[in-house]
Amino acid sequence: MGQPIDGRAVAQKVNAETSLQVERLKVNGVVPGLAVIMVGDDPASFSYVLAKEKKAQELGFKSFIYRMPPTTTQQELLELVRSCNENAEIHGILVQSPLPVALNEHELVMAIVPEKDVDGFHPINVGLCALGAPHALRPCTPAGIVRLLQECKVSTRGKRVVIIGRSRIVGLPLAHLLLQRGEFGDATLTVCHSRTPDLGSETRRAEILISAVGQAHLVKADMVRPGAVVIDVGVNRVEDATKPRGYRIVGDIDYDAVLPVASFVTPVPGGVGPMTIAMLMANTVQACRTQTGL
Ligand code: NDP
Repeated sequence: MGQPIDGRAVAQKVNAETSLQVERLKVNGVVPGLAVIMVGDDPASFSYVLAKEKKAQELGFKSFIYRMPPTTTQQELLELVRSCNENAEIHGILVQSPLPVALNEHELVMAIVPEKDVDGFHPINVGLCALGAPHALRPCTPAGIVRLLQECKVSTRGKRVVIIGRSRIVGLPLAHLLLQRGEFGDATLTVCHSRTPDLGSETRRAEILISAVGQAHLVKADMVRPGAVVIDVGVNRVEDATKPRGYRIVGDIDYDAVLPVASFVTPVPGGVGPMTIAMLMANTVQACRTQTGL
């Protein structure tokens, strides 16, 4: 029987480390500042932004939340990003996705100065991360997954690792991290996506399987190698009349069926999700230290 990986507990540990660093910065008269820009009224984005705001405040950051109406123009957003770039109280900037379709997210990310790009999405940071630069701002979800593996003492060195998904926010940068040299790199890596013809034949070979697709219960028990470590990034709503909202959140992995087959599995919620926010806060402190030289 496998063990659940408690992402909330690991996130708490990361947050405690961040909090210590915030205290040290404050002794030097510096308070880390995080700016979050959200456009429109997407309910999921709204709750993600709220969670980021809450955590930033809890950790003693200065939080700058810009909730912009859906009619905001690209030009207005570019000006907002530029003013955040120039604001010395702001050390980290992120644009919450998704944006209304009329807006160009790539252009906005490009407008963030790379040293304040705490999501790690700017091409400069993507490149530094791919090259293994030690002080690169790493994308939060992949960095959180590596930290979970470290905490569970699951080395990836030489292991057959299969990632399902190649997005620029999860699958691709995670592949970059797992190919770096080191105990939590050096993976023998396969990246699957929607054009992979026989997903099960790939996933069954994985000693470590990571799914970042966004399809409820895509990965069934018979797609998992016995004893594998399984990391579930997916966040999917499924109807559930017993819940007050009429739905519940599940991952990409058929958790109840996979847990007995695997050695470790991350639950959803409570696995990768809390780590993403914790790593965002850690990135903001890292960015603040780089910018202030403290
Ligand atoms: P994207 O939609 O950008 O990417 C999904 C990836 O899955 C694509 O590479 C796609 O392939 C691939 N894919 C789609 N269908 C299949 C299939 N049937 N078989 C194999 N591969 C498939 O999603 P994101 O990476 O942004 O997010 C993935 C999931 O993770 C979502 O549920 C999202 O909500 C969640 N998420 C969770 C976070 C957390 O903190 N817990 C953070 C970020 C995301 P192709 O490239 O060919 O289209």
